[in-house]
Amino acid sequence: YFVSFEGGDGGGKTTQARLLGDWLAERTGREVVVTREPGGTALGAELRQAILHGQDMDPRTEALLYAADRAHHVASLVRPALDRGAVVVTDRYLDSSVAYQSGGRELSADEVERLSLWAVEGLLPDVTVLLDVDPATSAARMTGDPDRLERAGDDFHRRTREAYLRRAAADPERWVVVDAAGSVEQVHAQVRDAVATRLRL
Ligand code: C5P
Ligand code: MG
Repeated sequence: YFVSFEGGDGGGKTTQARLLGDWLAERTGREVVVTREPGGTALGAELRQAILHGQDMDPRTEALLYAADRAHHVASLVRPALDRGAVVVTDRYLDSSVAYQSGGRELSADEVERLSLWAVEGLLPDVTVLLDVDPATSAARMTGDPDRLERAGDDFHRRTREAYLRRAAADPERWVVVDAAGSVEQVHAQVRDAVATRLRL
């Protein structure tokens, strides 16, 4: 199985991906790989550094760097894991690009989607969990030094959230939307139940 977590900053994707991974390991008895984008590989970590902490860049450059990170992530880590029967849980995948680079940066959603699918040879998750986070919760949970993207304005984040919700509504077979405002345990229980139903576990 291949599961992705999506959503704005401060929604708890990293924590929830780890908790779901632990639960899936127990439930399925299979190897579980929990990973993330950007930066799930050594090359990816360099790309992540360049994208988030490097010089300013135009939206197309940014989209191509995310696509490069993802292509390498899938070719070197995700696909081999799925091929050996492991379960893969990723903290962000190609829907982040559609939401951020088209919703946020206003590139064409179709073009970003085509670029993303090309990068991964069409590999889509079985289930995608959108941890929908409202702006107040997101702001309250952000701590530490903001990266280049986290400093983008409120409008950017509002458009990104709307793009996610539109995308989820358009493909309810793949997407599950969970309100990220609850406690870690509450959100985990909702995620677990939704994923179990979708994967018939
Ligand atoms: O989720 P994480 O904190 O690792 O994401 C890193 C940053 O990159 C976030 O600020 C997120 O908003 C941004 N991002 C983006 N476009 C993507 C993926 C992430 O702008 N395709
Ligand atoms: Mg972040």
